[in-house]
Amino acid sequence: MIIVMSPGATEQQIEAVVKKIKEYGCEANISRGVERTLIGAIGDERQINQELIDSLSGVEQSMHIVKPYKIVTREWHKENTVVDIGGVPVGGKTVQVIAGPCSVETQPQMDAAARAVKAAGCRLMRGGAFKPRSSPYAFQGTGIEGLEMFRRAADEQGLPIVTELMDVRMLDTFLKWNVDAIQIGTRNMQNFDLLKEVGRVNKPVILKRGMSATISEWLMAAEYIAAGGNHNIIFCERGIRTFETAYRNVLDVTAIAVLKKETHLPVIVDPSHAGGKAWMVPALSRAAIAAGADGLLVEMHPTPCEAWCDADQALTPEELFDLMGELGGIAKVIGRDI
Ligand code: PEP
Ligand code: MN
Repeated sequence: MIIVMSPGATEQQIEAVVKKIKEYGCEANISRGVERTLIGAIGDERQINQELIDSLSGVEQSMHIVKPYKIVTREWHKENTVVDIGGVPVGGKTVQVIAGPCSVETQPQMDAAARAVKAAGCRLMRGGAFKPRSSPYAFQGTGIEGLEMFRRAADEQGLPIVTELMDVRMLDTFLKWNVDAIQIGTRNMQNFDLLKEVGRVNKPVILKRGMSATISEWLMAAEYIAAGGNHNIIFCERGIRTFETAYRNVLDVTAIAVLKKETHLPVIVDPSHAGGKAWMVPALSRAAIAAGADGLLVEMHPTPCEAWCDADQALTPEELFDLMGELGGIAKVIGRDI
């Protein structure tokens, strides 16, 4: 950590900072300039409480040198990590498309969806049995029954399943139904108790970006999971909130490049919740793959106009099939396949 003292800081103020640094088990390196004195804290500076240092008199500002996250950073782990979801590798040469309906509705709907996911050439299926809805009066999901329907439909097609966990009390049920990857939604990205619990199990976790979360907050949320021992984490950019109202969220393509640099873990993109309209999904998907995303999470419904949730953004089975063909071309250009 580097601490910048205010111009005119007294010797006592400098000494007080040095004393505090030593209390945290670090050494202090003092550098006296013409106008300001800089104090370098050497050692495990993650232990230092920055807010406390900033509150000491004579301190102008302080900054950490090392990142607040260690397991998820590429700093100590240069190679890309490949996360295995039920035998399907995410983060390798092959771009993986996880497709399926926003929510699990009925057995015939899930059976038709699973057939369409398979026919399009996707290897993983999505579907929410527990839905985080803005209104308490909106459809909340089919719950445990939904998990059962999902498992049955996906097993028929040999597809591993991805589904959202909102409540830690459902974790054992998810394990019982052998959910292949646990999705943590945008609203729960900073539900630290939930993150700690999924950090204790040996299941891949797809961590969506909080709708107003910074990259650093997102990385630290992943670190919560990793710190518990579960390193099978996949980041999912799903659009962030801005002043724009012409679409549901703004797909932050820049985040893909930044995350690929900052972390060794796979990064995927959800173009459906970003745009919020089915017609935007192909363009956003192309952009995501071209920018280096390792996969996509796409909503598709056998009959979108009958969907119980997010009907407007669901692709038809035919649209998903066409999209997969189109994305093959983009993947090839950047040396990947799909
Ligand atoms: C979803 O994928 O079904 C979902 C609710 O997404 P998000 O958490 O990104 O809104
Ligand atoms: Mn949805």
